[in-house]
Amino acid sequence: MKFSTRLIKWYKNQNILMPWRGEKDLYKIWLSEVMLQQTQVKTVIPYYKNWINKFPNIKSAALASEKEILKAWEGLGYYSRARNFQHACKNIVSDYNGEIPLNEIEFLKLKGVGEYILSAVFSIGLGKKLPVIDGNVKRVISRYLGLTNEINSELKNIKSFLDIKIKDVKIPGDFNQAMMDLGRIVCKPKNPNCDICPININCVAFKQGLTQLIPIKLKKKQIPHYKMIIGIIQNNDKFLICKRNSDGLLGGMWELPGGKIKKQESNSTALNRVFSDFGISLKSNSYIGTANHIYSHFSIEQHGYQCDYIKGNLISKNHTEYKWISKGEEVLFPIHKASHKLLAKLKVNYT
Ligand code: SF4
Repeated sequence: MKFSTRLIKWYKNQNILMPWRGEKDLYKIWLSEVMLQQTQVKTVIPYYKNWINKFPNIKSAALASEKEILKAWEGLGYYSRARNFQHACKNIVSDYNGEIPLNEIEFLKLKGVGEYILSAVFSIGLGKKLPVIDGNVKRVISRYLGLTNEINSELKNIKSFLDIKIKDVKIPGDFNQAMMDLGRIVCKPKNPNCDICPININCVAFKQGLTQLIPIKLKKKQIPHYKMIIGIIQNNDKFLICKRNSDGLLGGMWELPGGKIKKQESNSTALNRVFSDFGISLKSNSYIGTANHIYSHFSIEQHGYQCDYIKGNLISKNHTEYKWISKGEEVLFPIHKASHKLLAKLKVNYT
């Protein structure tokens, strides 16, 4: 039996249900693929359902406010995906009469659309024979072919192999989804389940005992770690939140204000320095706790303090808006996870 036949047979037997499986609406397929980038299926499912309820089509996504878009994405991370997706929807409404362009070159011009999204959407929605290549697929094929060079230097070989194999199938969308499922469920990074793998018969890594060695990856650089001082600044019954600038990390998201602690600096010195730089004076009342968070390129250790506002207007080059909100009102704003972690500590300690 051919590689593709074995793979598709396995895929059909698995019959894994996901809300976007079997979908033919390009908008919904595209959304699911954007959400699935860097994110696990089980995490995406509730976000996908909620999004489709709120924004069932291109036009509704294009017309939504930035706040509504980011609120619907809150907690999913990599918020530029949401902003780019909405930007592309707006573009489709203004330049393509609300219809997703079916031409590959035109589709690739949309913000956030790269080769991966193009192949996924056009293969699943339009039956184009374009193989998707993500981290899972690269791992499966590099093991299957026994590729012993660094995985990214083998991209051409992986692509040529898939370009040939996808030609064998009637439904290229199934082929691509089968490859991704296989990587996720069977050919896992650690301890692949080769005994039940539908393509084990010709897999070089399996036959030669190389599954722990392949794929070969460059050692990850250690990411920097920053200590941060964060203030939950209270004025009567309200506390302060700030909206981050639209461009850059977490653009448009709301957060508790704060800044980096310098080397050798004490928390209290950092607290006074950061907030006097912001133009406000305050009195620190109590330590809320520490909350760590990891981003793709750095990690942070947040030290949270509950403080009383005394005077001044917050001015920060990182933010565009400031709001005093009552406890409970934070649910109305898209607030990033790191700030949510400290707000959760505040709730535990003070309610
Ligand atoms: S046989 Fe093992 S290593 Fe080879 S593709 Fe299947 S799961 Fe991956």
